[in-house]
Amino acid sequence: MVNRQDQSTENPSSERHCPWCGSRDVRLVTRGYTGPTDETDQYFVCNACHRVTYELVAKNAREMRLGRWRAGGVYREPTTQIRYHISRVLKVGVNEFLIYLRPLAEEIAEESAAT
Ligand SMILES: [Zn+2]
Repeated sequence: MVNRQDQSTENPSSERHCPWCGSRDVRLVTRGYTGPTDETDQYFVCNACHRVTYELVAKNAREMRLGRWRAGGVYREPTTQIRYHISRVLKVGVNEFLIYLRPLAEEIAEESAAT
């Protein structure tokens, strides 16, 4: 398995795995666009280590101004205090933005050193 790493970077969403422990036993919570839930963010929970990994978060225009988030920047998730790399910022409505996140490599290193 020489190109294992290449495969995971090429296609990160087709097969989710926990960035913290590597487990593929994860439960995805998708963003509820119009459904009964008012879940505005999308994330998955690892069944092995129970860590939460955010994939995208929704912000309104005012929050975006205050947060000054932009692609290539860093986003600190307020609940878990985990820092993410912002891969993309997408405007999806008059007053709504989606921030696409990827956990920072150094954050993962720190977390696994602490456990
Ligand atoms: Zn895990």
